[in-house]
Amino acid sequence: MKLSRPSAEIFVPDQVPLEGALSRTTHLGVGAHHDDLELMAAHGILECFARTDRWFTGVVVSDGAGSARDFEYQAFSDEQMKAVRRAEQKKAAYVGEYGAQFLLDHPSAAIKDKAELVVQQELTEILRAARPTVVYTHNLADKHDTHVAVALRVIDACRALDPAARPERLIGCEVWRDLDWLCDADKVSMPVDRHENLLNALMGVFDSQIAGGKRYDLATAGRRRAHATYFESHGTDQHTGLIWGMDLTPLMHGGEPGAYLGALLQRFEAEVSSRVQRLR
Ligand SMILES: [Zn+2]
Repeated sequence: MKLSRPSAEIFVPDQVPLEGALSRTTHLGVGAHHDDLELMAAHGILECFARTDRWFTGVVVSDGAGSARDFEYQAFSDEQMKAVRRAEQKKAAYVGEYGAQFLLDHPSAAIKDKAELVVQQELTEILRAARPTVVYTHNLADKHDTHVAVALRVIDACRALDPAARPERLIGCEVWRDLDWLCDADKVSMPVDRHENLLNALMGVFDSQIAGGKRYDLATAGRRRAHATYFESHGTDQHTGLIWGMDLTPLMHGGEPGAYLGALLQRFEAEVSSRVQRLR
């Protein structure tokens, strides 16, 4: 497979030939940055962990150049930081037993540029080779521009496939803003109960971000636990960890993403307003 950026890379942790590594994919995660997959697509990683019939393939779209840095990493140049983040992502792919890990290495500006089609085309190629059943990406209500741009490129990449070749499910996941606000009927529920040690390890390898002053490891574990406990006010906890998703499946086949998101927001508004009306 030919990737557009000269510095792009495909890492196969168990070193099987690339074609076989990709064709065994069942779950695909497409994230903007190094560590987004482990944060948002942990459900897919766990579904495939230690299985021979399911494989998770990861795609990191950006180059990690603009990363925050502190402590050991404070004096690192953008190039050094990119190398560190790339190495961290490979560690996660190894620990999580991914089938393959793409490092597409695009600058954020290219991902956000609507006129730049190369990211979408590359994602279409990856989808053609991997033929995943489920795809995890960012959700449309995330507050990071690059995350939302990646979600939109994934939607367009799916639309470029023949309808029969599209994944069965496309899920927008939580990073910068959680999805607790979605009406319960609109939530995709992704339990992450097992292998807590593995989930902690997957977040822990991203030392450059955590040492850089952001405790993504603790915050991510806390968010999952909070979702599990605060979902049901009248029942005992059914899960020890939950990730919420926004179902983006209909958008693979058509429709305006902005209008789709607007309808979800309207349902949320109607739900909270009607409760106040009813109780006042
Ligand atoms: Zn990110």
